[in-house]
Amino acid sequence: MEPSTYKITIEGTVQGVGFRPFVYTLAKRFGLTGSVCNGTQGVEIELNATPEMLERFLQALQEELPPLASIDAIHTVECEALHFDDFQIVTTNQEGERTVRIPPDVSICAECEKELFDPANRRYGYPFITCTHCGVRYSIIYDLPYDRKNTSMKFFKMCKTCEAEYTDPLDRRYHAQPIGCWECGPTLKLGMRNEELGIEDNEAIDKTVEFLLEGKIVAVKGVGGYHLMCDATNDAAVLKLRERKQRPAKPFAVMARDMEMARGLAEICEEEETLLLSKERPIVLLKSKVEGGQVIHDSSQRDKSQTTRPLIATNVAPNLSRIGLFLPYTPLHLLLLERLKRPLVATSANLSDEPICTDMASLESLQGVYDYVLEHDRQIVNGCDDSVVMVVAGQEVILRRARGYAPASIKLPFSLRKRTLAMGANQKNTVAIGFDNQVILSPHIGDLGSIGSVEYYEKNIETLKRIYEFAPEIVAYDKHPNYESIKVAKSLITQHSTLNALTVQHHHAHILGVMAEKQIDGKVFGVAFDGTGYGDDGKLWGGEFMVCGYDGYERVAHIDYFKLIGGEKAIKEPRRVALGLLFECFGEAALKLDVPTIQAFSKTQLHTLYIAWQKGLNTPLSSSVGRLFDAVASLLGLCHVMSFEGESGMLLEELYDASVTGHYPFEYKGGEIDILPTIAAILDEEDVTVAVSKFFNTLVEMIATVYAPYDLPLVLSGGVFQNRILLELVFRRFPDAIISNTIPPNDGGIALGQIVASRFIE
Ligand code: ZN
Ligand code: ZN
Ligand code: FE
Repeated sequence: MEPSTYKITIEGTVQGVGFRPFVYTLAKRFGLTGSVCNGTQGVEIELNATPEMLERFLQALQEELPPLASIDAIHTVECEALHFDDFQIVTTNQEGERTVRIPPDVSICAECEKELFDPANRRYGYPFITCTHCGVRYSIIYDLPYDRKNTSMKFFKMCKTCEAEYTDPLDRRYHAQPIGCWECGPTLKLGMRNEELGIEDNEAIDKTVEFLLEGKIVAVKGVGGYHLMCDATNDAAVLKLRERKQRPAKPFAVMARDMEMARGLAEICEEEETLLLSKERPIVLLKSKVEGGQVIHDSSQRDKSQTTRPLIATNVAPNLSRIGLFLPYTPLHLLLLERLKRPLVATSANLSDEPICTDMASLESLQGVYDYVLEHDRQIVNGCDDSVVMVVAGQEVILRRARGYAPASIKLPFSLRKRTLAMGANQKNTVAIGFDNQVILSPHIGDLGSIGSVEYYEKNIETLKRIYEFAPEIVAYDKHPNYESIKVAKSLITQHSTLNALTVQHHHAHILGVMAEKQIDGKVFGVAFDGTGYGDDGKLWGGEFMVCGYDGYERVAHIDYFKLIGGEKAIKEPRRVALGLLFECFGEAALKLDVPTIQAFSKTQLHTLYIAWQKGLNTPLSSSVGRLFDAVASLLGLCHVMSFEGESGMLLEELYDASVTGHYPFEYKGGEIDILPTIAAILDEEDVTVAVSKFFNTLVEMIATVYAPYDLPLVLSGGVFQNRILLELVFRRFPDAIISNTIPPNDGGIALGQIVASRFIE
């Protein structure tokens, strides 16, 4: 049979991942002629083949994909017969609508790691070694298509040897855009705050290690931003970092050299190990081997020279039995840890509420925090934090979706009619663009609580719009009137009169996000346990039970409203929430109670706050389960003022005891759950552990009670489901409950929900 000419378009993550040489090699193997090139929608192949050959070729193509590639769709059309002498890789075709995916940044691959430590290799010890299957991508891209000239590697002229690798289709570094070597690539420099020390490359690494061992704090430029690093075994160094960063208690992430070192620091199950070693290399929250502030000395993990040094400083994660660990993901990290032989505290370099620092100018704000800076001259174009994940009941739960994962696309169970831009929420913000059946969710942007963070937010929106040449028809945003995102959305609408606005209720968006990720196309029973989100009645929702579809929702039940004394202030001060509930239970008599919450205020404060509560002065009503956690933490004397978001929930997790059975009373009628009986019972409890454990059980019982009459899938979302204990208990009771795995249950998943809410908009 005579071969025909086919034009094949492959959509997905197919650029910058070694796809063209892969197609080239495959075509040669099949003895086919034609060409392959990068286009705006993906990879385009022209092929002369018989229908049978074509089928076999496409099957092999899907089965043997390069490690970083993923295919969303393959379109094949027969076209006018063309003649080819052989199979060739041709230059990029730039015409047409842009729908190709930007590959995320991934960790160094095994082959590059081997070369890095091979004295015979020409890139031995080179801190920027990379190939087609590993390394930076998103963080260095200005524009698509993903070619060197569209990345921050354009400032480095390849040497002859690198160029030979780059242009050889059979080389592992064929079109590896960030390719470089000692001769031609980026240079490492060690500096002292604003001062240059003239120390470069290998010497810079040696000196950095020396300083870290001395207890110094070093800012180290990574993939999507800088880290602040210090010796994780050195209490004084960690304390210094805490003091300088004004971060008294929030746990620090720790980078371990390898799995062996990680196992010395934490208990690691199989799923957790897979995540630690994955190409995404997230921070994984693990059960620490450092308990109750005491270091457990594990003799098997120590060598003779380190007998007196603890495995890890106790103030890395004070009072917590969990530790966030990750493994080195760049050659530079590997080189540092190889020489250091100790775990490193590696926390994002930023001021609280500010975005991650991505250049020396933004690092200026941290001048007083670090002693030295290990810098290089490859520009970070797009900032990207480390991702954070945990494993609960055998499932991966992502808490911060950034490096390694973003901006990989999420496939919807339907096609959108309009191009939608979603603005996300105010905390843990991410933004998203949606077109066809695809959503591109930005990496974690953070809380929009400062001018700097709002600028970074706008930059992220512009980046997505620019790279994808995306002109939205709908802008979707939260209903909260004071969110920064709304101000930005409104200014976009003012600039573009054709842009349609769509407001999406916060908790509806939470549930919709999970439905979209799980490709659910029908109704679900959604439980949104959250901090606070703006409700349709203007109250601060967060303990919501809703029957949800893409077209809307019915709020079937909620936690009965209680007053947040001082509004915004109550979010940081659990004692205010608890006090409000005490007033609710006992009225003025609460002031005479002998409970930790009352003792956490002065007499005058108590009097003023009682009047505020009674008269309803700045005491917005809320149904938030997040705030309920806060209240319980204060009532039990665990936490009255939080030093970081989520602290109260973490402290409650610590005290949970699985052997305690039973729950506290609550009343459920008329779609409202009265929690005052629960509060009263907690006050009567003598044992804190019992109180905490029964409180967790009570929340599960509430879900079970409200859910009982419904024959719909049970979907969980909202920031409260970051709580491992609660999630485990709900899964134990309802093994089929659904939680998102690739978007966070917290507000980082809101943008996806906002996008899919536009499904039926004409
Ligand atoms: Zn590699
Ligand atoms: Zn070179
Ligand atoms: Fe939320």
